[in-house]
Amino acid sequence: MSFCAGIQAGPPIEVFALTQAFTTDTFDKKVNLGVGAYRTEESKPWVLPVVRKIEQLMAADQSLNKEYLPVLGLAAFSQAATKMLLGDDSPALADGRAVGIQTLSGTGALRVAGEFLARTCGRTTIYSSEPTWENHRLVMLNAGFQEYKSYRYWDPATRSLDLKGMLEDLRAAPERSVIILHACAHNPTGVDPTPDQWKQIAEVIREKNLFPLFDSAYQGFASGDLDKDAFAVRSFVKDGFELVCCQSFAKNFGLYNERVGNLTVVTSSKEVLANALSQITLLIRGMYSNPPQHGARVVATALNDPTLYQEWRVCIKTMADRIISMRAGLKERLIKLGTPGNWDHITNQIGMFSYTGLNVEQVEYLRNEYHIYMLKSGRINMCGLTNANLDYVAGAINDAVN
Ligand code: PMP
Repeated sequence: MSFCAGIQAGPPIEVFALTQAFTTDTFDKKVNLGVGAYRTEESKPWVLPVVRKIEQLMAADQSLNKEYLPVLGLAAFSQAATKMLLGDDSPALADGRAVGIQTLSGTGALRVAGEFLARTCGRTTIYSSEPTWENHRLVMLNAGFQEYKSYRYWDPATRSLDLKGMLEDLRAAPERSVIILHACAHNPTGVDPTPDQWKQIAEVIREKNLFPLFDSAYQGFASGDLDKDAFAVRSFVKDGFELVCCQSFAKNFGLYNERVGNLTVVTSSKEVLANALSQITLLIRGMYSNPPQHGARVVATALNDPTLYQEWRVCIKTMADRIISMRAGLKERLIKLGTPGNWDHITNQIGMFSYTGLNVEQVEYLRNEYHIYMLKSGRINMCGLTNANLDYVAGAINDAVN
């Protein structure tokens, strides 16, 4: 009898199961709108030219070696990542009360932040939006939170932010709860609060003594502008909040499988930060000891060299612009076809994803009749669209809705 004989199979992970089903589909017009990664106009993954260039420089650099990094990672990377998030003129950086820690991509940053808040700081309850990136729940329960709860976020009727519901739920949250906030390009809805709405959210968080945990997986990738996409985090820091922010470099550098992430911790004083860092060092030492170098060095090189930095900014603009143009193309076609409903949300939403408002039956219909794959929630990845398949997808959506 096997040692794991009594174990039942776990549920499939929807996004991976979808990709598997798409791959085995032999229909020539099939379209995958389910993936969580950038695709070019040719439906191919894209290694950013600036990344290729830096990797070639690194391969030729005999001074680089494969020694262990420190537990908290490559300082040249984490410092640059934190500066990119908080801005060059950040008061928290100037005061020495903000620091970055290299992590295993955004997920790893979330896990380290979660363990620190739950196990070290004794926080018991964490909230994320409904809906949210589906992995928040698993990461945070595994990190040691006793309770994972949701606050309202999406209003299906208006296909926009349910601010009233969100504020009510935050007001009702127990004091000291941790609140996950998407820094920009909310996944899966593509709906972000406006600056004024962020202000109202911040007021409730302060008033109810809640703790903000930002998840920043799309900085620069969302609008093409790094500063614009960091607005929410920077305004909280400016208002004097202590916070943590989990950064992913998967999307904005196209470094998905290199697992490059950063956890930025902002505290009220330099003194408490030192103690926090020593505890985080122990958490990481006991979890994976230290992070890998390659991807972090690629990012550090790009962020710390003015010429390469400009080349990278061109790349993120290319990706953001392609997504924005696919949004416009889809909306235009649906309107032209007279598809019932209002499709303004397609262009109002931000980032890689759009929450189409299609229901489960329509999603299934699109898959069965047209071989168009998307998550059950109706979330689509705009990069799955190309000029070559826009007409096909718009026609199919029109048929599914009618
Ligand atoms: N947070 C959000 C909101 C995301 O969308 C993602 C990626 N899908 C992540 C975190 C983590 O991504 P990664 O671990 O690949 O950096």
